[in-house]
Formats: sequence, structure tokens, C-alpha cells
Amino acid sequence: MTEATGIVGEFLSLKADSDADLLAMQCGDFYEFFDEDAEIVADELDLKVSQKSSHGSSYPMAGVPVDDLTPYVSALVERGYRVAVADQHETADGHAREITRVVTPGTHLETTDDAAQYLAAVVGTDGDSADSAGGADGSYGLAVADVTTGQFHVTQLDGPDARTRIQTELYKFDPAEVLPGPDLRGDDDFLDRLRERTDAALTVHTEESFAPGRARHRVRDHFGPETVDSVGIADDDAAICAAGAVLSYVEDTGVGTLASITRLQSYGATDHVNLDATTQRNLELTETMQGGTDGSLFDTIDHTTTAAGARLLREWLQRPRRDRAELTRRQSCIAALTEAAMARERLCETLADAYDLERLASRAVSGSADARDLRAVAETLGLLATVEDVIDEDDRLADSPLADALDRLDRDAAADLASELDAALVADPPGTVRQGGLFEQGYDEELDEVIERHESVLEWLDTLADREKERTGITHLSVDRNKTDGYYIQVGKSEADEVPEGYEGIKTLKNSERFTTDELQQKEREVFRLEEQRHELEYELFGDLRERVAEDATLLQDVGRVLAELDALASLAIHAVRNDWARPELTDGRELDVEAGRHPVVEQTTEFVPNDLRMDGAASPPNRERASGHANDQRQFLIVTGPNMSGKSTYMRQAALITLLAQIGSFVPARTATLGLVDGIYTRVGALDELAQGRSTFMVEMQELSNILHSATDDSLVILDEVGRGTATYDGISIAWAATEYLHNEVRAKTLFATHYHELTTLADHLDRVHNVHVAVAGEPPTASGAESHTADESDGDVTFLRTVRDGPTDRSYGIHVADLAGVPEPVVDRSRTVLDRLREEKAIEAKGSGSSEPVQTVFDVNAGGFKRADESEPATADGGTAAEASDAGLDPETEAVVEELSELDVNETPPVELMATVQEWQAQLDDG
Ligand code: ADP
Ligand code: MG
Repeated sequence: MTEATGIVGEFLSLKADSDADLLAMQCGDFYEFFDEDAEIVADELDLKVSQKSSHGSSYPMAGVPVDDLTPYVSALVERGYRVAVADQHETADGHAREITRVVTPGTHLETTDDAAQYLAAVVGTDGDSADSAGGADGSYGLAVADVTTGQFHVTQLDGPDARTRIQTELYKFDPAEVLPGPDLRGDDDFLDRLRERTDAALTVHTEESFAPGRARHRVRDHFGPETVDSVGIADDDAAICAAGAVLSYVEDTGVGTLASITRLQSYGATDHVNLDATTQRNLELTETMQGGTDGSLFDTIDHTTTAAGARLLREWLQRPRRDRAELTRRQSCIAALTEAAMARERLCETLADAYDLERLASRAVSGSADARDLRAVAETLGLLATVEDVIDEDDRLADSPLADALDRLDRDAAADLASELDAALVADPPGTVRQGGLFEQGYDEELDEVIERHESVLEWLDTLADREKERTGITHLSVDRNKTDGYYIQVGKSEADEVPEGYEGIKTLKNSERFTTDELQQKEREVFRLEEQRHELEYELFGDLRERVAEDATLLQDVGRVLAELDALASLAIHAVRNDWARPELTDGRELDVEAGRHPVVEQTTEFVPNDLRMDGAASPPNRERASGHANDQRQFLIVTGPNMSGKSTYMRQAALITLLAQIGSFVPARTATLGLVDGIYTRVGALDELAQGRSTFMVEMQELSNILHSATDDSLVILDEVGRGTATYDGISIAWAATEYLHNEVRAKTLFATHYHELTTLADHLDRVHNVHVAVAGEPPTASGAESHTADESDGDVTFLRTVRDGPTDRSYGIHVADLAGVPEPVVDRSRTVLDRLREEKAIEAKGSGSSEPVQTVFDVNAGGFKRADESEPATADGGTAAEASDAGLDPETEAVVEELSELDVNETPPVELMATVQEWQAQLDDG
């Protein structure tokens, strides 16, 4: 193939020097894409491809007009491409082109999405990288920047599981682009997970920028050495490497927003509530399981009126806090806002006029803000005074921490900047900054003078036609301007002979003739010169003004942040008022005590039946006084049973969501709630359809269980929904049994465990803090659609499991084998095996770790389908009665028939769907009887 030369050659060589996916190269009034790039762009954006021939070869070519580049680049970047832009500039001998910026998913300034757009760098070294299940010592650093708002967060995690924890941390930001450090680039497991959990583009950034010395230098250079010390990361090499890499990448891409990153915010491992990726998804915080946003928690509680407010509220949900003082502060603000209804409405109306100051700050810094943007800055800063009035005028608001938030702002500086901008810019400036018309009269003397001269020449030109008509008596005479002829006098054909001396013909048209005069030519030169002078001067003045705003980027960010916070708090107050939510009491204890609680999303669409939840010491209602001393530790592990569709899953999610809402400072859906702050919320809820990701449901289930058992602490809230369900009964019970013991004895987390294994309820007799709760059927019978979705879950579980794992030692312990593969802690796996053996041999199992002095022996009685105490003659049924009691009663024929069928049914041979249907039939039969 011949080497491409000419313009295509230039394109290909620029492209080869860049690591961008696509290149847009300026060629005069167009940006062109050539070759493969042209095909891709045309495909993605529906552009027309033409052929460019160059020295005998022909190349596909697609182009967009210079002024339209931004939306095209945005669209490409939003599809995940990194787009380099090469601009053309004049040189002594023609023109040259060079790449001036690379727009990437993480540095894309023109995003139309209101949500934060994070660029992240993550670095780390494992003490022992062979161990991927966690447990190895290591240091991991994470830096995330949002170039559109200037936010910059840095953290470092050390010690066991640092690798897993940093990943969880990374997912919380839902990054648009990730720069993996040198050590992580070869880490398939890390990269695979990242691809699975996020839509982030993965970018390889130069290795040097991650080097500790260089990174440290850069971070100190950017933020000042004191900052690095004062935010406490001076000794955190990994954090500094990540931070340095992000800064260097933002600089290299040339988006020009580096200076908007004004503040280094470091945070520690204990600042936020741990929410593993699964929990973030399970709880449907910002997206539902189906992937939509409708019906997510965010969607439900969001009543913000500004983009920045919505962004902040979303951020709160994704990163709940553990700092009681901060949460109490937010609560107090919300409380005041719920009470001051009129003031709240005025506040919201005022905020509705606010523009996104954080984003405007970045645009000012990068030099992309236009006059309309600066007007928006002025108008938004101007709102502060109104906001202040609204708060001052209502005692409840004035006495709340809302007033303090405003006090922290430099309101004088804000007012000054606002009035400066207001005095400078016309009320409704044009969308381009190169064609004048931006400034108010009186802003700049020189400009005023130029404008005056310009206008007077324009005036002369405007009135020329009238003057000439009068002077010459010609009736069909006009003065106009176009690109080729400049200014001209046009005279109708019939009168063309009557033009006076000095008229010089320049063009003959069908019905008219065009003329010019010496004076007109002179005025024309003058008007062009003045016009150019005016545009240049305005452009220059505007650049200065924009620069001036850019210098105040921190002020804009601060004000923007406070307005966003007011918006988010007002939104939470509105939701609390409309839905009758209550302010939760936050304690340092471990309780989770909810009276008449509801599920925040389900209550929106359903006549919700409120329910209570009492954990950790809060005694049941009749004798609450007893809730002291020893009793305080009694209820920390609830086994939740109840028929299908009775609301078990909803009840448990509700507990998690109430806790989460409390830890963003919000009110909660309950009559009253008292809760100890948690360090993490972990869920394994429902049988998810993870088939799309190519992993068996049961493998996923065990991996998630494994993660919970490794990560949760005694300050965590753990929600397990039907864990163990995806495998054979004995297997499932054994794993559930061992996990329960482990959570109860070792992890000691607050736990809610819904299970269809009634057998597990026996554990409550043997393990101190384990209690059974039973969800009674509430309200309507299950709807047809609900039942369908449930059966679908079950069939998925079994089928995929068998297909995926083929090398289990015996068909009856696949489950434990998978649990082992998934990294479930050794003691739990071993214990499951023991329990399984005992179950099979119908021997007594002793519940391990019971605080009671005499160990209780339990035997699983296959015939009765329940556990019995080893010393009992009759097996205990789930509800505490005995099987004998049940069979004693004289049975009616319907019941007898059902019992007969039941005893003949081979559970292991019947598909779950059919089982469900059969059971439903039986229930119907019994109802009739
Ligand atoms: P389970 O896990 O016991 O099978 P789910 O929690 O999935 O039951 O709930 C079944 C159905 O009942 C869901 O449609 C849910 O919205 C509804 N539901 C659950 N709890 C309540 C409640 N307290 N009040 C009203 N409807 C509820
Ligand atoms: Mg359920």
C-alpha cells in the first residue's frame, strides 16, 4: 500500500502520534475525519461519507462545520470514544496543524448530563497479589476529579482487603473514565470487575505520571505544600500517586480546567457508610435492577429544582455518612424547613432560577464560557441576597444551621462580582463572543469610543439612500451590503442612466445596476475597520472579564455548593412533609428500632401496611421498659419467615433504606425511628438474574455472601434474603446454618435473614441474639404478575447452577463446593460440610457458639421436615408445635387428600415452577375445605 501523502497523510501521522480513538482535524471551515475514523463517525452520528482522493488512492472522509464541532465531539465522547482535536493555525508559509486537546469521557466539559462526571485514577500494590479473595496486605490510593465542577477527592486504604475496598470505593463514584496505575494494568480480575460494574472507559496514562516523586511534586505544586500536609495525606504515597496522575492527565488532555480543581478533599475509610456494589444495586439507589431510573430511591425522593441540587442529593445517596454531627446538622435544617412551609416555598422558587455555578466556574476557567454564561453567574450570585432574606425572615430557618451555611460564604465578594458582571454585560448577550454586542455602554472608554465611531458610520450608511434619492431624484435607489460586493448603491434599470457623476458601476443585474462612489468606498473601509476593531476589543475585554471570573472559581464553587445543599435539603423536607416521614434519633448504640416503618418507594404506589422493626435491645412493645441491661444485646439477628409474597424482602430492604436515609441526614418513612449509626450496609437480596453477566446465580450468591462475611463488622447492617436457595435443600440449609453461626459469633453484625428454610428458626433457641420474626400476610393475595416474576427467579437459579458447575465432588454438595470457590471463609465452608454430614446421617447438630450453658442437640428429621431436639421424641415444627399435634387432629377429606399428595411428591424430581404451582393448588384446595 502506498504511503498516504497530502492532507490525509498529515491526518494519519497526527493520529499515529496520539493515543485517541478518533481525530478531528481542522481543514479550513471544517473539521474532517478521514479513513477508518470517517467510517466510525459516520456510523455513530449519521454523517455522510464522501471520498477524498489523494495521490491515486481514495479515502473515506466525513466532516462537520467548525462551529458545530462541540455537539459532535460530545456525542462521540458520550459513546465512549476519546476524541483528539487538531486545530489549524497560520504560519509564515501557509498553515500548520497540531492536536490541541483530547476530549475523553472523564474530561468532557460540555456534558449535557447533570450528574457528576468522574475521572478516577487508582493505584495500588498488594502485599501478595496472588490472593485475589482479599486478605492480602496492601496500599491502594484513589483520586477522583470532576472537571466539570472542580471536585477532587482523594483517599488511601491500607491493610487487609484494601484491594476489594478500594474497588467498592471506586464504584461508588460511578466513574466515566478510569486510569489504572501501572500495577493494576495487568490485573485481569480488577479490570474485569471494573468493566462489569461500571461503564467507565479505561485509559492507559503515562507510567511516569504515577511515579511517586513526580506525582508528589505535581500535587504540591498544584495545591501548595501546606494543603497536602493539612489534609493528612502527606504520608500516603498511594493516594498521592493517584492524585498526581489525575492532575497530569487533566493537564495533558488540554481541556483547560486544571485550575478549576481548587481544592483537595481527602477522606478516610471511616467517613462514609460502606455500600458494596451489590448493595448499591440491590437497594436501587439511583437505578432500578432493570436499569431504568424511574422507581429508584433517588427518583422517588428527588424534588430538587436545580441540576446542582440533584447532583448533590444523588451524591449523598451514593455516599452516606457516618459523622453524627454532620447528620444532625442536616436533620436540623430539614426539620426547620418542614415547619416553615411558606419560607420553604419561597426558597425553592428562588433556587429554581439558579444556574449551575460549579459548572460555570469550570467553563470560565477553561475559557469556554460565553457572555450568556457570565450573565448566568451574575444572576445566580445575585440570588444569594434573596435567599438570605428568605432565611432571615423566618425565625425557624434563621435559627437553624441553614443560616450558618450562608454565613460561611464571602457574600460581599459574591455581590461585588455580581454587580461588576451586571454592569459589564448587556442583559441578553449573543451566543458568540466574537461578534461584539456583549458590553453595556460605559463599561470601557476605549470601547465606547470605537462603538460611537462605528455607529456613526453605520448611521451615515443607513441614511445614504435617502440622501441620494433626494439629491438625484432617483426613486428606485437603495444601499445594501453583501459579501462579494461590499457596500453598494443599487439603482433600478429604468433609472440607471440618470445616476450622477461620481457613480461608478460595479455590477449589472437583470433589473438593476450596482454602483459605488469614492466616499462610499472610504466609509466602507472605515466601517469594516471599526467593526473589526470593535469585535476584537470586545473579545479581548470579554477574555479579561472571563479571566476575572475564573480567578473567583473558588467563590463560585462555594456559593454553588451552598445553593445545591439548600436545594437538596429543601427537597428532603418536601418529601418528608408530603409523605409524613419522621426525624430519626441517631445514637452511638446498635439499635434499629422502627415503629410503623414503610418502604420509601413501595409506599408511593401501594397501600402500604406499616410494620415495626426492633433490633438490639429494644424489647417488643408490651414490655419496652425491660429494654435495659442484658436485654440490650438480645435481638441482633432476626430470622424472617413467612409465606411467599408476604413481604419479607420488602421488609428487609425497608430496614436497609431507612438506615441509609438516616445516614444521609434525611427523615425516614416511619412513625418513629431510633438507630445506631452503621459503618456499612450489606445486602444479598433476592435471586438476581445475573445470567446476562455469564455467571451462575448461585456462584454470584456465594461470592456476595463471601464478600459480606469478609467485610461486615459488628457495626454493620447485613440483609440476607433467601441465601442458600440456589442449591439443593441439604446444601442450602448447611450453608445458611454455618453462615448464621459465623455472622452471629464472629462478625456480630446486625442481621436480618429471610429464609424459606423453616429449619433455621430452630437456631433462635440456641444462639443468644438470634430471634425469629414472622411476616404475616398483609392485605391482598399475591397478584398474578407478582407470582410470575417469583417463579422465574426460582427456575433461573437451578438451571444455570447445573449448567455452570460440573466438577462438584458429589451431586449433593455442589453448593458448598461453590461457596468454597466463591471465597466464603474457611470456617464457614468447613462448618457447612459438618452440618451437611450430620443432616445426611440424621445425626444431632450442635448449634455452635451458643452462649447458653448446655449445648442443645438438634436433629433434622427428614420425615417431618423439621428439626427436633435430640432428646425429644417428637420433631418440632416451625411454629413450635409438634408434628404429632398436627396429625392428631381429625382431618377433613380435602386436607387428607393434600397431605397424601404431599407425601408422594418427589421434591428433588419436580421443577421449582411446578412445585410452586402445586403448592398454590393445595392452598386453594385447603381454603375451599
Ligand atoms: P416476599 O419476599 O415475602 O416473597 P415481597 O417482599 O417480595 O414478599 O413482597 C411481595 C409483594 O407485597 C410486593 O409486591 C410488595 O410490594 C408487597 N408488599 C410487601 N410488603 C408490603 C406492605 N407492608 N404493605 C403493602 N404491600 C407490601
Ligand atoms: Mg422475597
